[in-house]
Amino acid sequence: MTVFEAVKQISCNDAAERLGIEGKRTGAGQGRWRCPFHDDRHPSMACYDSTNRYYCFTCHASGDAANLYAKVRGLSPVEAARAALTEFGMEIPGGCDRPRREAVTVRRDVVARAVRAIRGEFRRGMGMFLQGQADGMVSVMEKAPDPDGWKWNHALQRACKMQEEAARWDAMTDEDVQAEICESLLNDRLPQWGEGTPTPGRTLFREIMDELECRDEKFPRLNLSEQVAALDELCRLTKESA
Ligand SMILES: [Zn+2]
Repeated sequence: MTVFEAVKQISCNDAAERLGIEGKRTGAGQGRWRCPFHDDRHPSMACYDSTNRYYCFTCHASGDAANLYAKVRGLSPVEAARAALTEFGMEIPGGCDRPRREAVTVRRDVVARAVRAIRGEFRRGMGMFLQGQADGMVSVMEKAPDPDGWKWNHALQRACKMQEEAARWDAMTDEDVQAEICESLLNDRLPQWGEGTPTPGRTLFREIMDELECRDEKFPRLNLSEQVAALDELCRLTKESA
């Protein structure tokens, strides 16, 4: 076990309390705290003892006790994990920090269910982003009506294209979405829709996974190996699946 694996046994609620973050436990295994990752006036960071992770509903920061320690105390990731383990009286794993390949069971059906849920959420996010772009363009056009002018011509083309693209995402099957993800990972195709376009990759899918875990009762609870397997599956570049 590495320090990073060991620190995941610490509840973020306990860590937040220990770090003096303002907030409190709000119920069985849950708490709300003022998020240290943005200027938070009301507690918007939720901590869940079921996963020992936190998620901020305002800035979308998510992570574990080590991330909280790193942020609040200004420590490097390793220092933060060691500090948390020390303060909670836990043993600090020695030796090298390379993760040991433990024989942890990966429930394939559970991973597949999680992967489908994440793809679905990504598809809805793309649809919403593109529809928002199209609507924004249309509302700008409405403010300066000039149906025959060159400005309108360009804006209309762009709005139609984004509208079509939004509809295309709405209609996609699970396999279509995976094909889009593969293509994007290989060719960087999606960001053509401008800044803020959701870009498929481990960072985004990890974020979606954390969010679904926090707010969707039906989203399966994955162990660490299963989380990695799910991210691998989403970011695979070939048709063969494990
Ligand atoms: Zn926040």
